[in-house]
Amino acid sequence: MIVTIDGPAGTGKSTVARILASRLGFEFLNTGAMYRAVAFACLQQGIDLNNAQAVGHVPSSLEIVFANNRLILNGHDVTEEIRGQQVTQMASQVAANELVRQRLVELQRAAARGVNLVTEGRDQGTVVFDKAECKFFLTASAEERARRRQRELLEKGEEVSLEELLIQQELRDERDETRACSPLKPAEDAVIIDTTPMSLEDVAAYLENLVRKRID
Ligand code: C5P
Repeated sequence: MIVTIDGPAGTGKSTVARILASRLGFEFLNTGAMYRAVAFACLQQGIDLNNAQAVGHVPSSLEIVFANNRLILNGHDVTEEIRGQQVTQMASQVAANELVRQRLVELQRAAARGVNLVTEGRDQGTVVFDKAECKFFLTASAEERARRRQRELLEKGEEVSLEELLIQQELRDERDETRACSPLKPAEDAVIIDTTPMSLEDVAAYLENLVRKRID
């Protein structure tokens, strides 16, 4: 069974998907981390993000492995590095590149072969796994999403104002929603959940209940 969780940044997708996968005994795939890994590689290799051809070739030079919720890029653990501010902004630019998407979608589908999977991202229910049995789309108010991001950055020792984060978030949302290939939107058959007033534990429990009803 494939469970997809899509939605904009800061809606709690990763946390919810991780909890849900662990409760169901399913594999977990964080596809945002894959786009972040490509952005990080572009940064390391000094590739100009305006050069679509060069960016499009980056994924074929990369080995992306998930192990114990860590992302290993060409043998190096880059889990922390890819969560920083610069890579975050670059990831949504890289994600608009059609070649990058093609390659990462292949890897995502390969990861789903023969396993039960909870996967999260922007296009999992609409494009990558359009036949998935359970599709969810998480939303939350812009302020709440920015606050969640602010808390995440603070835990890493990065202090960024809410105003600054709101501006960056809006830019990222707009890029994700308006790009030509696989724009962010809910699948027609997705259950849409506003997580603003809920704890992420509660969201995961709610989704678990819905998935179990489908399994039974
Ligand atoms: O979810 P996360 O914030 O880690 O994703 C980073 C970026 O990767 C997003 O802003 C989005 O542009 C891109 N992304 C995507 N499709 C996915 C997952 C992430 O375009 N399935």
